[in-house]
Amino acid sequence: MDTPQPSEFAERRSKLSVSLDGARADAFLTSFLPNCRYLSGFTGSNAALLISDRRAILFTDPRYELQAPQEADCEVRIVKGSLVKEVAKWAKRLGVRTLAFESQHITFQAHKMLKEAVSEIRLKPVDNAVEALRMVKSDAEIETIRVSVELNSRALEQALRRFKPTMTEVDLAGEIEYRMRKLGAERPSFETIVAAGERSALPHARPTDKAIGTDHLLLIDMGSSVAGYASDMTRTFAVGKLDGKTRRMYRAVLESQLAAIDAIKPGVSCGSVDGAARKVLRGHGLDRYFVHSTGHGLGLEIHEPPRVGRKEQTKLEAGMVVTVEPGVYEAGVGGIRIEDTVVVTSDGCKPLTPTPKELAVL
Ligand code: ZN
Ligand code: ZN
Repeated sequence: MDTPQPSEFAERRSKLSVSLDGARADAFLTSFLPNCRYLSGFTGSNAALLISDRRAILFTDPRYELQAPQEADCEVRIVKGSLVKEVAKWAKRLGVRTLAFESQHITFQAHKMLKEAVSEIRLKPVDNAVEALRMVKSDAEIETIRVSVELNSRALEQALRRFKPTMTEVDLAGEIEYRMRKLGAERPSFETIVAAGERSALPHARPTDKAIGTDHLLLIDMGSSVAGYASDMTRTFAVGKLDGKTRRMYRAVLESQLAAIDAIKPGVSCGSVDGAARKVLRGHGLDRYFVHSTGHGLGLEIHEPPRVGRKEQTKLEAGMVVTVEPGVYEAGVGGIRIEDTVVVTSDGCKPLTPTPKELAVL
């Protein structure tokens, strides 16, 4: 599988330095794991990464003594005790005057410790600097996401071959996650949602030990993590017969999803993609049941910028990967959501999810 090559990390760090020029900081610190991974290759569960003009130093604890130098393409320091204190020592040693840090990720306590340890260094909050770079994926990242998306679809297909209405929601979620693992996923990228009947009206339902049953909707939202990259897909099925109203709702959601996909191309704002989905549902009198945004970016995190939501100004660019997932949820009736992952191309977008979207009867 194509995973990013070490040179790609160094390239990302130099892009970050350029993007931080405006902040007038001579060094950058992150301890947010997806950002540490993105900028160094390190996949462990505890890290801080200090990047100055000339050097990049990854700090982690003794559990990663062997792993960190294998994965990271930069200097590695193994630290017993507080990473923050060691970072402070090195920031001083490197002659840093202004240190940029991520105010949305650092804890209050870590910030306090840092401030005390480097009283002579100015701490400058910067936000979303790495996330902004992460929005546009490299070819290698897109390829990894495609593998993740295809594995996820295969896991659903295999799990559904074992489907019986007597299964509980938990049974089916377990079967799905087992299939993901067997196919090579590291883990689900989020808690699998399996929601039958009225429970499908809860957009983030947790599977229960209730039998799935028949003659109603079954909503499944699932994602795999492959080489660190998330996939995310929702399909809504008919178990047995559905009434005419529910079938019409399904067609409206599918029409809305296709309209949003159709609206995606470079230069278009995320808000107008969301608007395209909402407009179709409004035409069917269903927009008041659409209670979340149309989609989100995904990559090293299951939810990352850009948000494809109402009035979002961010303009789409080739290489961005976003989900498209309008849904309608009516209390006492049920919910329908259809979600694909698409990659923005030079003149439109390419859906990556291979699973069919026409209403399927289980
Ligand atoms: Zn989802
Ligand atoms: Zn999603």
